[in-house]
Amino acid sequence: MATAAAEARRDATHVDVLIVGAGISGIGSAYHLQDQCPGKSYAILEMKDSFGGTWDTHKYPGVRSDSDLYTFGYRFKPWVGAPIASARAILDYMGEVITENGIDQHIHYGHRITSAAWDSASNLWTIEATRKADGAQVVFTANFLWMCQGYYDHETPYLPNWPGMANYKGLLVHAQLWDPKIDYKGKKVLVIGSGATAATVIPEFAKDAAHVTMLQRSPTYFYCSENKNELADRLREVGIDEPTVHRVVRAQIMHDQDVITKRCIAEPDVVFEELKMLVRAFTGKEDFPFEPHFTPKYRPWQQRLAFCPEGDIFRAAVAGKLTVVTDELDTFTETGVRTRDGTEIEADIIVAATGFNLLMMGGIPFTVDGQPVDWHDTVNYRGMMFTGVPNMVWVMGYFRASWTLRVDMLGDFVCDLLKTMDRKGAHRIEVALRDEDRDMALSDWIENENFNPGYLMRGLKLMPKSGDKPEWRHNQDYWAEREEIPRIDLEGSEFLYDGVRAGSKAPEPA
Ligand SMILES: Cc1cc2nc3c(=O)[nH]c(=O)nc-3n(C[C@H](O)[C@H](O)[C@H](O)COP(=O)(O)OP(=O)(O)OC[C@H]3O[C@@H](n4cnc5c(N)ncnc54)[C@H](O)[C@@H]3O)c2cc1C
Repeated sequence: MATAAAEARRDATHVDVLIVGAGISGIGSAYHLQDQCPGKSYAILEMKDSFGGTWDTHKYPGVRSDSDLYTFGYRFKPWVGAPIASARAILDYMGEVITENGIDQHIHYGHRITSAAWDSASNLWTIEATRKADGAQVVFTANFLWMCQGYYDHETPYLPNWPGMANYKGLLVHAQLWDPKIDYKGKKVLVIGSGATAATVIPEFAKDAAHVTMLQRSPTYFYCSENKNELADRLREVGIDEPTVHRVVRAQIMHDQDVITKRCIAEPDVVFEELKMLVRAFTGKEDFPFEPHFTPKYRPWQQRLAFCPEGDIFRAAVAGKLTVVTDELDTFTETGVRTRDGTEIEADIIVAATGFNLLMMGGIPFTVDGQPVDWHDTVNYRGMMFTGVPNMVWVMGYFRASWTLRVDMLGDFVCDLLKTMDRKGAHRIEVALRDEDRDMALSDWIENENFNPGYLMRGLKLMPKSGDKPEWRHNQDYWAEREEIPRIDLEGSEFLYDGVRAGSKAPEPA
């Protein structure tokens, strides 16, 4: 008698590789797959009606990148605009990558994946998805799963349950759910939060709103700069071609970021003084007051530095369009909020820039041979593979460097892995702890000391574990990984091909 899994597979569409998500990771991964493994069939399943992921979801005023697009763009497609780009410009860039490479024929929009089941008897993934157009459950099978679903819930952002919220008579909206039809002209706007989203939205609101207030629990570091790259401009002026400009400027930016990252650790106070000098230069105010609202408690770079083009948020403050309040929100009132120290803030619109809900693997329930996967029981291999879960790689980018640098890097890795499997005639690849790892201390995915944004700290219990050796850690260090990942030895004994540890002849005991 056929098993339920076998029956589901009978009507399935089969591909060699199934990519989950058509955001910047999924599109980049598709490019690398067809470029480096042209014989492989593949499909991209995307629950939305369009590509772009993050850049399609967020629609608040001024939505833009925080990173420069020379490094946030792919290594294979030159970026020709200003370094910091609007969501629209990023979507246009991704659209070009899709059409120039015929990736569109492989994308199935409006397909929300509802389960992923691995079967060791057939060495196949069975992926079920709900098709938005008619509500049908459709089934795909794949030899390999390339998870590019991002790290947060695109539909339900993180909104703390503040006291008195129901009493508020104005409009409360989370930045992630902002509708561009909302009219804030001439209104009093309160933004709760002070991270990158707040830094983007506040100067935009300040242009047309009656007044903007930023309520923050604690201050953020801001990096003020013009939105241009002088080296890129100069190279173009002297007639250098765009692919070369892209390559050289990427190298320059990555070098400079490496220097600043190290300096943030070695001499955080000096870096902070330099950040202050930039604020003074852009506002023209030598006595700009940094205490108490712009002096963070943590060292620079422990969380992302918020980019501030032309010092815009500080200029809004100096122009009297922005008031900053640093305090805990105590309660909502009918007309706004009250803080712990009793400050009343009145607002017609309250925008919660309070961040994300971490969503492990797009919320998709996974099983391996019928057993549910609890990601917290797995150990991560370099932040991309997981013990006990075969034929799958997850693309999680960098927090401190541009996300996409890792998309390109893991693209090379996955293609090498697929080629190695083909060369060996293997149908299954997985990672497993080695004898020398058996007594290894296991800890949370990422150390609080290393990087500690709220959404990660809130979600650590959903995330795989880490060990204390480089193989079993996600170090979030681009500069180390760009040396390490291309040199990974796919014959290393942490890899099992068809259940046999690389370098040995006998199958692993069950
Ligand atoms: C406002 C904002 C600004 C940012 N700016 C920067 C920046 O400047 N630099 C930087 O490096 N990073 C930035 N980030 C981080 C950013 O999320 C990543 O850089 C990057 O865009 C993530 O791309 P992704 O493709 O991995 O994931 P996402 O953009 O999250 O895309 C994932 C896709 O997978 C789809 N998906 C998820 N689950 C399922 C499912 N079950 N079935 C089918 N499809 C599914 C989603 O619909 C989505 O389209 C920013 C994030 C935000 C929110």
